[in-house]
Amino acid sequence: MDFVHLDTYLNYIDANIILGRLENEGINCWLMDENTVTVNPIWNQAVGGIKLMVASQQAEWALELLSAFKEEKKQAIKCIHCGSGNIEFVTTPRKASNWLGAFAGFFLGDLALPVDKVYHCFDCKAEFSQEKMDKKNEF
Ligand SMILES: [Zn+2]
Repeated sequence: MDFVHLDTYLNYIDANIILGRLENEGINCWLMDENTVTVNPIWNQAVGGIKLMVASQQAEWALELLSAFKEEKKQAIKCIHCGSGNIEFVTTPRKASNWLGAFAGFFLGDLALPVDKVYHCFDCKAEFSQEKMDKKNEF
């Protein structure tokens, strides 16, 4: 059976959520390089992330399901500033707070500085934390 590469993920959680949802719909699929990236995340760039492989006969159907899942996600998560659904949960390096941090950051890159995960809006360019998002959604 032939498999085609349909999508790529940077972490195993997103990849497995999509894998499970596709399998629920009867799609024959699996994840390539999942173990490599999960055991050693620094290899993520080298191997090109976790690849979603789908049976070629079901690729068109799987692609339709994938875009439906993405649309669903956009409807569920909205920017707290402009209300756009065009946002992603992204990793952003913390700013160096002193000369030592700047020095370490220069030589070690992202490894030296802890990273923050924030929502980034691609429409109004705003960035905000999960906590702000939770406060906004409280009633
Ligand atoms: Zn926005």
